Amino acid sequence: MPRLIGLNFHGIGSPARELEEDEAPYWLSETQFTEILDRVAASPDPSAFVLTFDDGNLSDYEIVLPALIQRGLTARFFVLTGRLDEPGSLARDHVTALLASGMGVGSHGIDHVAWSDLDAAALEREIVQSRDALQTLCGHPVTDAGIPFGKYNARVLRALRRNGYRTAFSSDAGYMTDTAFLRPRTSLRGDMTQAEIGAICAGRMPAVRRLHRAAGMIKKRILPLR
Ligand SMILES: [Zn+2]
Repeated sequence: MPRLIGLNFHGIGSPARELEEDEAPYWLSETQFTEILDRVAASPDPSAFVLTFDDGNLSDYEIVLPALIQRGLTARFFVLTGRLDEPGSLARDHVTALLASGMGVGSHGIDHVAWSDLDAAALEREIVQSRDALQTLCGHPVTDAGIPFGKYNARVLRALRRNGYRTAFSSDAGYMTDTAFLRPRTSLRGDMTQAEIGAICAGRMPAVRRLHRAAGMIKKRILPLR
């Protein structure tokens, strides 16, 4: 089974909306972003990289889409349906343009809340209503979820499976396979050095993140995944 490297991005360039607390470190400059894309495009096997974009920022359409097309790359976009057509976020027309260009669209929920903190009814609403809104917009089934803030537990994963999702993209770093339900990604940050980015693109996780992942895996093994 091929081991894939999941690279997760948020906003690119200058935000056109007010950022949430702790969000700014995850924005990359356009230069940082295109350097990473060039690295992916120049690698011996660009299909070993799975590119994803969370939050449905306007930069997905204005900056990311042309940069992907220019390099013959594709990506998945995890959209917040509560922000569609809001200033600084994707409009509905932008989502259909992403699809028409061969990009994938999945749910990041409605309101950008941590799914693991929600009660059963609120969790159901986030994952079902966001999916339904995207399906109406896309005209086909939506079965990919990008987990907000990478925060999940067994209950979140069960709810996603029960509601027809086939994938759940986390932020746990490490390799992913394209058959697994849970797919770890590494989130790129604007303060990462060239060396760190190089290591991530080579499939080598920074030591600190590897430790977090080990701790996370131990915790998750205790929780039944049904
Ligand atoms: Zn997010």
